[in-house]
Amino acid sequence: MRTLTDEQREILELVRLLARERIKPRAAEIDASHEFPWDIVELYREQGIFGLLYDEPDGGTGTGALLALMTIEEISKVCATSGLIVAVQDLGSLGLKLVGSEEQKARFLPKLSSGEWLAAYALTEAGSGSDSAAIRTTARRDGDDYVIDGDKRFISNAGVASVYTLFAKTDPMAGHAGITAFVIEAGTPGFEVARLEPKLGIAGSTTGELVFDGARVPVANRLGEEGEGFKIAMRILDRSRPGVAAQALGIAQGATDCALEYARTRETMGQPIAQHQLIAGKLADMETRCAAARGLLYHFGNLVDGGADGPELTKASAMAKLYCSDVAMEVTIEAVQVLGGYGYITEYPVERMMRDAKVTQIYEGTNEIQRLVVAREMLRETRITPWAAL
Ligand SMILES: Cc1cc2nc3c(=O)[nH]c(=O)nc-3n(C[C@H](O)[C@H](O)[C@H](O)COP(=O)(O)OP(=O)(O)OC[C@H]3O[C@@H](n4cnc5c(N)ncnc54)[C@H](O)[C@@H]3O)c2cc1C
Repeated sequence: MRTLTDEQREILELVRLLARERIKPRAAEIDASHEFPWDIVELYREQGIFGLLYDEPDGGTGTGALLALMTIEEISKVCATSGLIVAVQDLGSLGLKLVGSEEQKARFLPKLSSGEWLAAYALTEAGSGSDSAAIRTTARRDGDDYVIDGDKRFISNAGVASVYTLFAKTDPMAGHAGITAFVIEAGTPGFEVARLEPKLGIAGSTTGELVFDGARVPVANRLGEEGEGFKIAMRILDRSRPGVAAQALGIAQGATDCALEYARTRETMGQPIAQHQLIAGKLADMETRCAAARGLLYHFGNLVDGGADGPELTKASAMAKLYCSDVAMEVTIEAVQVLGGYGYITEYPVERMMRDAKVTQIYEGTNEIQRLVVAREMLRETRITPWAAL
């Protein structure tokens, strides 16, 4: 496993400082107000945080995937909404990074890496989440444009993003082979955000419905060729899901740290609750699960930084997302229990962390779907097992 360079360590220290001094004090307010935290975006812009997601020619730092994941983890320890802002910027930019033409990259990536523009990824529709090949939004070619009609649902950064990676059917009869990817800019006539969803957690992140009614996108904004959209969507998710894993792990570790601090000082029956073996056992399990999850997440980061692609990445990505998010849910429920009544009230952050954790098992592919992906990749691999050798 690679270790961080001195420069990467310094950046991570800066991220830790920002998380502790600037983001943590805002977390409860962001949750209570349900407002998108533009002040956190401004902080990221000032401190070059978005640049950690991009290569140097695109205006970024070129410091790699592992450091970007660690950044999301560190921020999510104190505020899952603020961690998600970094993860969604990556999700919405990956199409351009992976398959954008030189002209498209030059047009969009510098503004995304500075944070001047925020990005979004629009695949899900009311009738198709897990079954993403069943999308019904259409893109009809008309001269030098495509005309987009349809709706997207549950889109993170809806209304705050300047650019959206959009998936639509150029051949509605062709299943996943009929899907094409585009970049569409906010403000395009015929494209609007119809509503924002109130929700259980990550309250400061916008989740919205996009409506396209004859919106025109120039051919110059098509990503890849017609019919390549589904493959592009899946390639993007292979790379972006670990961002959700990093968010989940951050939430889990943040809750563990909070439970530990509380258990050290809260006394019952004449001793700190951390000295009661049932509580000590919980703390030990929470810490162990976080450490195991971190192993899977950092393994993925090292694979990407080592140039891996294809099925190896697909499986590692699904395993990291699946495990880190299940750990986040289990650990945050235990953290609430360790704090007893205080765990349940908003004076302490663990109830927020428990609410924030849930969505990490759902978005960017539910954990049921991740299990199917891991099993599919296992079945594809040709392994020589002791059984086969018999
Ligand atoms: C807060 C939030 C933010 C989101 N952000 C985005 C975004 O930015 N961009 C975007 O495109 N989407 C986004 N989504 C959508 C998200 O990715 C989908 O909600 C998710 O993929 C599940 O799809 P669904 O809601 O249609 O559930 P369904 O697909 O209807 O699934 C319902 C249940 O059935 C299970 N299930 C479905 N099919 C199978 C199967 N074959 N085998 C076993 N179980 C199955 C699922 O695991 C789930 O438990 C977001 C969602 C939320 C809640």
